[in-house]
Amino acid sequence: MKNLIATLCLLVTAAGVASGQTQVEPDTALRMLNAQQQQFEKGVVKVADNVYTAVGFHGANTSMIVGTDGVIIVDTLFGPTSAAKAAEAFRQYSDQPVKAIIYTHSHGDHIGGASAFVGDEKPDIYGTETFGSAEGVNKAVDPVKQKRNIRQFGRNLSSSEIINRGVAPAGTDDGDRGKGFLPPTVTVPSSGLKTTIAGVEIEFHIGPGETDDAMFIWLPKEKVLLAGDNFYSSFPNLYAIRGTAYRDVLNWSESVGKMAALKPHVVVPGHTMPIQGQEAATTALTDYSEAIRSVYDQTVRGINAGKGPDQLAHEVKLPEHLKDKPYLIEFYGSVPHAVRAIYAGLLGWYDGNPTTLNPLEPKVKAQKIAKLAGGINKLTEQMNAALANQDYQWALELSEHLKWLDDGDRKLARTVKIEALRELAAREYNAPNRNYYLSYANELESGQLSELWF
Ligand SMILES: [Zn+2]
Repeated sequence: MKNLIATLCLLVTAAGVASGQTQVEPDTALRMLNAQQQQFEKGVVKVADNVYTAVGFHGANTSMIVGTDGVIIVDTLFGPTSAAKAAEAFRQYSDQPVKAIIYTHSHGDHIGGASAFVGDEKPDIYGTETFGSAEGVNKAVDPVKQKRNIRQFGRNLSSSEIINRGVAPAGTDDGDRGKGFLPPTVTVPSSGLKTTIAGVEIEFHIGPGETDDAMFIWLPKEKVLLAGDNFYSSFPNLYAIRGTAYRDVLNWSESVGKMAALKPHVVVPGHTMPIQGQEAATTALTDYSEAIRSVYDQTVRGINAGKGPDQLAHEVKLPEHLKDKPYLIEFYGSVPHAVRAIYAGLLGWYDGNPTTLNPLEPKVKAQKIAKLAGGINKLTEQMNAALANQDYQWALELSEHLKWLDDGDRKLARTVKIEALRELAAREYNAPNRNYYLSYANELESGQLSELWF
């Protein structure tokens, strides 16, 4: 693991990656994403004498705590197929019955495989009071959320196109999603819970973050902390481009700060490899909490200085002493996206500038831009030149104008957009961005997208 960390730091330094900017040379992007693969290499990791974590059996982790007369399972993967494989791998360390199942939060990749761990037993199943609040909202926009989910996770990408999902492998077995879900039978109160299960002292701490219904699990004797998805090896996904409601960033930072205060000897993340050793684990959590807080504070200061989200997304950076930490590289979450999410979460869509109160409609703006460029042909030339000059974002933006123009070469604009997206993807080490660019390019190319979508 130390080698991986050193490699990643070297790669980032060599490429001179500015924090919040996840575009590098294609070779570097590939090397970084391939190195990140080691974070979810399939296997069971022994994190304490009686605690085992199965990594890489699906997207998330599942852990087994062995007690005197039974075991406790923390998180259950996405569906029973992958969960059964993890359960089988656990069995070589203990074949005692499952006394309890704990869901750190209600995301599908942590709850869908519970039945596979349960034989004839009827274990207690623990969830927070607000369990489920992360799902079931915004149903009205489910059709588009499904499309965006497929793109973010690269679900339709071929195995040669996708590398991974940032904190999870690609190519997971997803057909049985949620089929093994067993509803919670024990509610953890908002004040938390300290108890003993199968002879194991265990503490449940409410810890809102990625979801409002999250908790983290503390084993005081073993000094093992099971963090759920408030911690994993990547800058956190404070906003998901698949489309999610505001994730309370301040709460997230505070919850991770509470984890750090326990000074764990091991932190088991919801995804990616456990971090072992008191100093390494505690430092990682402290840094993580500070990184989230810093992005929040910088954004709030910028907002109060009258800056808009477009400007702030480019200005806010991770502090110098944190930007090369291996668990803060933006493989999954992205600083600029976090900034935009914080802005919208605190103030809504309006940036406070009266120019943006009633902007021109896209078609009218495109006509004016074409005129400004010296006509549609000139605009088209500029778009082509941007692509040729590897100014891919600008090529995309010009193609957007061209698509609205009745006399424009929309076919060409589409081709340029596809090419620019693929070039951007090749340079991305942020997996959701990369997967989204590639998926969208494929959809455009196959004609799946209507004129409206294009
Ligand atoms: Zn997860």
